[in-house]
Amino acid sequence: MTDNPRIIGERSASQHGPLLIVLTQVHGNEPAGYLAIKEVFKRIDEEYNHKPYFDYRGKIVGLIGNLRASQDKVRYINTDLNRLWTDENVSRIKNSKKENLNVSEEKELQEILQTVNSYIENYEPKNVVILDLHTTTAQGGIFIIPSKEEKSRQLGLNIHAPILHGFLDDLQGTVLHHFNNKNYPNLNLTSLCFESGQHNSRESVDHAVSAIIQCFMAMGGFYPEDIETKHEQLLTQDSAKLPKEAQLIYSHRIAPGDEFKMRGDLIYANFDPVTKGELLAHDRHGEIHAKFDGLILMPLYQKQGNDGFFIIKDINRDAPKLHQKIPTTTLNAI
Ligand SMILES: [Zn+2]
Repeated sequence: MTDNPRIIGERSASQHGPLLIVLTQVHGNEPAGYLAIKEVFKRIDEEYNHKPYFDYRGKIVGLIGNLRASQDKVRYINTDLNRLWTDENVSRIKNSKKENLNVSEEKELQEILQTVNSYIENYEPKNVVILDLHTTTAQGGIFIIPSKEEKSRQLGLNIHAPILHGFLDDLQGTVLHHFNNKNYPNLNLTSLCFESGQHNSRESVDHAVSAIIQCFMAMGGFYPEDIETKHEQLLTQDSAKLPKEAQLIYSHRIAPGDEFKMRGDLIYANFDPVTKGELLAHDRHGEIHAKFDGLILMPLYQKQGNDGFFIIKDINRDAPKLHQKIPTTTLNAI
């Protein structure tokens, strides 16, 4: 599989264990995840050089999601790969001949599925996590979108970034809609999405490196004594002012030809507070105002994309920040 250009690399411990598949660049113009997994592989190799007895359990694989879009440095070629994973699409695409797939992203989906499934078949892990790494056009804030499974949320809590609920009810066909136990009933498999910051910032790469390490440790891969606390500290510190968990309350969907544009006199960052009635954007129908008080998320500052912005509500404002560790027995079961 080494001549498969979608595979960034893989590292295996001497002991069998959990399989972490780090999926990067499902949006082709988001290179931070790609750079982060390369950095993690480099650090694993350096550990072996510095500490002859360094080891862990399991396997980490790095994959490129939208290969063709990543080569062109665009979000997608024909359609958003992160809106294509509905049950109907997946079963149609899975059973199609590649030459009959005319949409570039349908070929990508088929190849990702074949690659992930062949890793699962060959390695035969009991526990699998798909960590889907993204960045945003807006500045500010790291966050996690978990699948609807509690074990996904638990992994997210261990990464130490705000956990945002409700997106899977609002969006259709994301990677997280497919990679869950419903579609892999014989495995303990889940997925989560980590948004690490702005598209091309160095910080986004650092956040993603820490998230990969924290995630694999929480799965029972890396041993906690081998992991520096700086990864947990970086993520905890950079999300200190953000809600611990929040709920999606509104999303502004863009229709083709809408000419959507965020207002130009004020640049919003992720998690900036907005108040009901506040002017946020314009389109061909006129002004677009906030319908609720809340925090703005992922305001769109690029041409490609179907979502103008989201508004979320802190559901844990008064609760103490939860930084406790999950007991190892639970971790190993994830
Ligand atoms: Zn993305």
